[in-house]
Amino acid sequence: MHELSIAVSMVDMAAEEAAKRGDVKVDAIHLKLGKLTGVVKDALLFSYEIVCQGTPLEGSRLIIEEIPVVVFCPKCEMETPPVAVNNLCCPKCETPTPEVVSGREMEVTALEIE
Ligand SMILES: [Zn+2]
Repeated sequence: MHELSIAVSMVDMAAEEAAKRGDVKVDAIHLKLGKLTGVVKDALLFSYEIVCQGTPLEGSRLIIEEIPVVVFCPKCEMETPPVAVNNLCCPKCETPTPEVVSGREMEVTALEIE
């Protein structure tokens, strides 16, 4: 399960960061998650809770900000959401849009410390 390994690495990272700051308690992790990553938000939240058990992160929250997919259409010369996540074409002219502007993000943007 992909989400589980992501949760493990996030919790590891946050625990390390908390230890570095003098064993502070982490309240929440903020994560930006692009729709193109294929990561299922609910599965990740579920995995996160399991992984946190018995770690200094137990009881903390994972706050996920989902980033919509935006592509650039070279023909219309504009940024637009694609036809579908699995069909990256311009909805106006149906040109395939190889340039993904956003939607691939997966990064921890902030840690909330108590
Ligand atoms: Zn277009």
